[in-house]
Amino acid sequence: MTECPECAATVANHDLILGEVFPCPDCGTELEVLATEPFAIQPAPTEAEDWGE
Ligand SMILES: [Zn+2]
Repeated sequence: MTECPECAATVANHDLILGEVFPCPDCGTELEVLATEPFAIQPAPTEAEDWGE
């Protein structure tokens, strides 16, 4: 488990995979899985993906 970087709520890894983006169950902030062992997360980028189009 780790903590949400926005609200410090405990976030458990429920079958999340590397790079998966999911909302914090407490504050709803979009979080990205940085690593699964040990579980680490960061706020997901909020800007739309820009592929240069
Ligand atoms: Zn949160």
